[in-house]
Amino acid sequence: MKYLLTGGAGFIGSHLSEALLERGDEVCIIDDLSTGGIENIKHLKGRTGFRYVLDTVMNRSIMIELVDEADVVLHLAAAVGVRLIVESPVRTIETNIKGTEIVLELAAKKKKTVVVFSTSEVYGKYNGTKFSETGDLVLGPTFKGRWSYAASKIIDEFLALAYYKEKKLPVIIIRLFNTVGPRQTGRYGMVVPRFVQQALSGEPITVYGDGKQTRTFTHVKDAVMAILNLVKHPDAIGEIFNIGGRDEVSIEGLADLIKEVLQSPSSIVHIPYEKAYEEGFEDMRKRVPEIGKIEALIGYEPKCDIRDMIRDVAEYQKKRGLSSSL
Ligand code: UDP
Repeated sequence: MKYLLTGGAGFIGSHLSEALLERGDEVCIIDDLSTGGIENIKHLKGRTGFRYVLDTVMNRSIMIELVDEADVVLHLAAAVGVRLIVESPVRTIETNIKGTEIVLELAAKKKKTVVVFSTSEVYGKYNGTKFSETGDLVLGPTFKGRWSYAASKIIDEFLALAYYKEKKLPVIIIRLFNTVGPRQTGRYGMVVPRFVQQALSGEPITVYGDGKQTRTFTHVKDAVMAILNLVKHPDAIGEIFNIGGRDEVSIEGLADLIKEVLQSPSSIVHIPYEKAYEEGFEDMRKRVPEIGKIEALIGYEPKCDIRDMIRDVAEYQKKRGLSSSL
């Protein structure tokens, strides 16, 4: 099969590319390197069945050709990371909406399967339960920048489902919860690579707010396996799936754990949200996925625990010499 990965030089795209090539599929990547990096895919250069195009998904004429050549489009290209969203809201909204419009429109002409990568951000505020694919999405007001990311991804989901219903385009929507692993950068705010870098360099570990907010984390290896199994399952078409972890951990608990696993002398400091992000920033107090739907369809069972993730991220950072300032 021929796969087109938009945003394929990003953290998740590069792992997906690797797994696809390993099982003998052909992979073409389009990436403008805005948040992805050429170093993520340099080990794939020269591999049979691999090629990449350095351009944006907004370049329609290039995209016409690339979508045409593919059997399946994995649409990962997006502005990601809470920090980027707060700092560059125009870019976030435009990239996320226009890019998806182009991908879906072109794929619809040739009925190519499209996987739209969405995010747990779409669930918005904690509603007292685990987040389930059929649950309500509760966002804050439009003057709070953070919510623009969720809103842009919600439009992507609506559009994908509209193409499915109206134009019979085979689409799958995946809502990724916090995913962690080698090649993820802390530059855009992601907590695990940031804490690991701080722990390895002996700098203070920066817990935002009171640190009682919770998340679950999934190793990118588990996420990739789940994505590839969904793509080949006929009953996944037209559906939305959460991919996330089971074990809930508080951010201050995560800081302690990282210190322990890496035997780090770092202190733990608390930084108010308005200093870390912007005045009035709203964080999610709790974010835990309901994963029964994907479990039932493909037998999804995350194998790596948070300690494996910490070790793998630390290993990567040590190898790359990243244990200096972000
Ligand atoms: N966070 C933190 N210190 C950091 C970076 C992030 O305490 O240096 C917190 C952040 O405020 C959030 C959690 O860690 O509560 C997860 O942040 P991330 O940006 O990784 O993902 P999110 O779940 O917010 O999309």
